[in-house]
Amino acid sequence: MSEHPRVEIYTKEDCSYCEKVKDLFDSKDVEYETYNVTGDEDLFEEMVERADGRKTAPEVFIDDELIGGFDDTQALDETGELDEKLGIADADTGIEHRKLVISGSGIAGLTAAIYAARSNNEPLVLEGDEPGGQLTLTTDVENYPGFPEGISGPDLINNMKEQAERFGAEIENGVIADVDDSSRPYRVELSNGDVYTAEAFIAASGASARTLGVPGEDDLMGYGVSTCATCDGAFFRDEEMLVVGGGDAAMEEANFLTKFASKVYLVHRREKFRAEDYWIDRVQEKVEEGDIEIVRNAELTEIHGSVEDGVDYAELVRHPEGYPTDKLDDPETETFEMDVGAVFLAIGHTPNTDYLEGTGVEMDEAGYIQTEGGKGGGQTETGVPGIFGAGDVVDYHYQQAVTAAGMGCKAALDADEYLETLEVEAESGATEAAASDD
Ligand SMILES: Cc1cc2nc3c(=O)[nH]c(=O)nc-3n(C[C@H](O)[C@H](O)[C@H](O)COP(=O)(O)OP(=O)(O)OC[C@H]3O[C@@H](n4cnc5c(N)ncnc54)[C@H](O)[C@@H]3O)c2cc1C
Repeated sequence: MSEHPRVEIYTKEDCSYCEKVKDLFDSKDVEYETYNVTGDEDLFEEMVERADGRKTAPEVFIDDELIGGFDDTQALDETGELDEKLGIADADTGIEHRKLVISGSGIAGLTAAIYAARSNNEPLVLEGDEPGGQLTLTTDVENYPGFPEGISGPDLINNMKEQAERFGAEIENGVIADVDDSSRPYRVELSNGDVYTAEAFIAASGASARTLGVPGEDDLMGYGVSTCATCDGAFFRDEEMLVVGGGDAAMEEANFLTKFASKVYLVHRREKFRAEDYWIDRVQEKVEEGDIEIVRNAELTEIHGSVEDGVDYAELVRHPEGYPTDKLDDPETETFEMDVGAVFLAIGHTPNTDYLEGTGVEMDEAGYIQTEGGKGGGQTETGVPGIFGAGDVVDYHYQQAVTAAGMGCKAALDADEYLETLEVEAESGATEAAASDD
């Protein structure tokens, strides 16, 4: 095959499939010649002869080889063979076409994969840089329905992966770097340069809890250090607990933890809180009742403990004007220790949606995907047809395993409906084209 093969398309007037096939080549930036057979007997005869007696337009030829009509061309495109024939497939990476690509193998992505695989939508799950998602960071999940004794996060995720694969889902390593929705099928590019095209896409890439990066934090994550009070608070019943943060989430978590803690210390790096007055008032009530103590102008600098025994104590610094870690050399900065059994980081989450920038998917200021919501079907639809959102990447409020799973299910059902509509459109278009050729 030459490097720039010659593409010829026989077309006729008022032919939607002729337009579609031209759009397909346009989307690939491939040049072609068109021959309009309407009203031109000779050209029509030529087309019929070259197309082995077929009397329908469009008819596509690449380097004199008969490809066929739009459906034939599209089918070749789906397998990547069209790009090979056109000499535009990247030999190192290839472009693989998939019906449905799911970003993320957290609980939302895997639930979507189970449903999508059972609907014959052959999902490809790309795992991102945290295969299994946030639940792999926790030892015990005690509130996921169906496990009266609880289950470890990694076990729950492995079970779900097995279940998804049993129905035919493919789960692969790969971090999505970019989604291009400017043409169909959508183009999904990975950070290693691999490229997929997809009819439909479910964004289930979660939101990463922000951490401080202080010594002890990583080692003790899941062993007394947590980013989720609702999830882990009950494990430290009757112990003193420390919550870091000054926004709504920190207030809510501190308030929630008073159900279990003998005392909650709320550590904030400056004097004033960012939280809404509602939450500040709730916390103030607990302060008056002696359940919460606010530690202002202080920052956590190290967490001491071990995997066997959990958190032993926390080291902090304080400066009367706040932001003490910026003023470590200042004589007014004091270092102190707090004897707590658990540390909860409530300094916010960052939704993993960078790869959707530049698409028509609507996001809020923080980067969370905005879906249709509402009560009927189509709740996980974004503004871009065929792109859906599920789990913590959409839902910044509940952020629980069971709610993420629920949205994963909804997204797969919404995607299934969308893919069926595409098929019906393609079939009725093909019938229309055949009828107009008669
Ligand atoms: C320590 C901890 C303990 C918890 N305990 C509980 C509990 O006991 N009960 C409970 O209900 N909830 C718990 N949660 C909350 C729960 O884990 C989350 O609500 C849930 O995991 C959200 O699922 P998700 O699939 O939406 O996102 P995640 O679990 O965050 O998964 C996101 C997935 O997307 C992938 N990804 C990200 N970016 C990309 C990209 N660019 N390309 C491809 N993939 C990408 C990631 O690698 C990951 O696989 C806990 C959370 C934490 C942090």
